[in-house]
Amino acid sequence: MVQQSLANKGSEPDRDGLIVVGGAGGFIGGSLVRYFHERGFTRIRAVDKKPLPEWYQRVPGVESLCLDLSEKENCVRACEGAMEVYNLAADMGGMGFIERFRIECLRSVLINTHLIEAAYRAGTSRYFYSSSACAYNTDLQKDPKVRALKETDAYPAMAERGYGWEKLFSEMVCQEYTAERGMKTFIARFHNVYGPHGTWDGGREKAPAAISRKVIEAKDRGIHKIMIWGDGTPTRSFMYIDDCVKGIDMITHCENLLARPINLGSSELVSVNELVDIVEAIAGVKLAREYDPTAPRGVAGRNSDNTMIQSILKWEPRTPLRDGMAKTYAWIAEQYADRKAGKRTVS
Ligand code: NAD
Repeated sequence: MVQQSLANKGSEPDRDGLIVVGGAGGFIGGSLVRYFHERGFTRIRAVDKKPLPEWYQRVPGVESLCLDLSEKENCVRACEGAMEVYNLAADMGGMGFIERFRIECLRSVLINTHLIEAAYRAGTSRYFYSSSACAYNTDLQKDPKVRALKETDAYPAMAERGYGWEKLFSEMVCQEYTAERGMKTFIARFHNVYGPHGTWDGGREKAPAAISRKVIEAKDRGIHKIMIWGDGTPTRSFMYIDDCVKGIDMITHCENLLARPINLGSSELVSVNELVDIVEAIAGVKLAREYDPTAPRGVAGRNSDNTMIQSILKWEPRTPLRDGMAKTYAWIAEQYADRKAGKRTVS
């Protein structure tokens, strides 16, 4: 199978066809808009329910709309004339958010349900859905020395309560639109994505951003300690944002992946303690570690088995964690300094 992407197709892609990105005010959606814009796509419609000044990235020349995509009429408006639709919109956050706000997570089902129907009615040629490793059976994730999760491990189903079940159900909606109506749908199961222009404060941030911020704060305030959620032993893999947006493009333009959920994640497994080591090395500090056993911690271990993506796309996310974290840390340090100086930041 030859690897393809919208940006680098064998045949010339239609750079004037309308690309719609839902959740474009957020971390991954915003980066995807920038990715297509930088590759010369002239008509991009970015949609998010957040007011425009709160978007993490606004790309000049891109139509940016503030619409709540859990409402049917707004989805119809968003999909008008769309060549391709990418659904990156969801009410979500790190463990602290998804363990506490299960109803909000489940209600994201409304977004995909209305958006895919609107995309279908608009004659959209391709539809992408952002699923998650949280869709996998949690019984397989009880050991930090986890066996990497492969695509078949989602069933028999025992997904993460709330958030994971919404993902699994919405995946099935996409699959049935392909099976019954012949619509081209594509589904990626992301494993922890990190990088600049994401949430780094406020309760929705994930471990790489939260640890970076805590180390920056400790340095700034001259406190030589850091509080870590859990006991530091859980393991995860983390994918850099540039790999994520490239992977979305490649998956959405691979006929062999029609309605087939696929892992999109790094297979470089680290413990939370090792992640802290990396951030400390970048920051040039060594901090005393305190552990909060009562904090949300999620499953014991989770990694991405990349056999399927390697065999189909001849590619996998490969940015070393150390390199991606250096860029992420630098961006958060900048945001932190700007906020301290009274400038507006995103968080
Ligand atoms: P994010 O929170 O930064 O972005 C999501 C965006 O969706 C937000 O800007 C939010 O305002 C918007 N949104 C929420 N409800 C909406 C609605 N009703 N109408 C319109 N917009 C709405 O999150 P992200 O990290 O960019 O995640 C994007 C997608 O990837 C989500 O589906 C998420 O579940 C999935 N995902 C992310 C990760 C990760 O590590 N970041 C991991 C697995 C899956």
